[in-house]
Amino acid sequence: MLKVLMQGSCSYDCAYCPVRTDSRGYSFTPEELAQTFLSLYRQNRVGGLFLSSGIPYDVDSAMADLIDTARLLRASGCDGYLHPKILPGTARTDINEAAWQANRISINIETTGESRLRALSGIKDYQQDIKKD
Ligand code: SF4
Repeated sequence: MLKVLMQGSCSYDCAYCPVRTDSRGYSFTPEELAQTFLSLYRQNRVGGLFLSSGIPYDVDSAMADLIDTARLLRASGCDGYLHPKILPGTARTDINEAAWQANRISINIETTGESRLRALSGIKDYQQDIKKD
């Protein structure tokens, strides 16, 4: 299993996370990541991809990159295991699209409630960034 962060930087500050408010900015484009994975997959060096991401700008663009990577892999005939994380605050249409491409999805909710989130992050808002009805 190849586990990778699409964006290795993030504008949020979750206390437990090594990439919090990191601006080093290393990242993959969907094309780069799909090509890298396909190369390893075709050599039988990996059988699946667990894909998550920091959120350097906004959730919609970070999630779009995860979905585009999955689309590129499926369009290339890759039928390996794909597990994209659903980032907190992802729109329902993007959740549906990710699920359509994936073998499995899981959703980051970061913590069990509003007060605990406040202890972990000075930036994230429970209603706006996690629940987002
Ligand atoms: S949003 Fe995710 S990547 Fe960003 S700091 Fe929090 S846990 Fe880390």
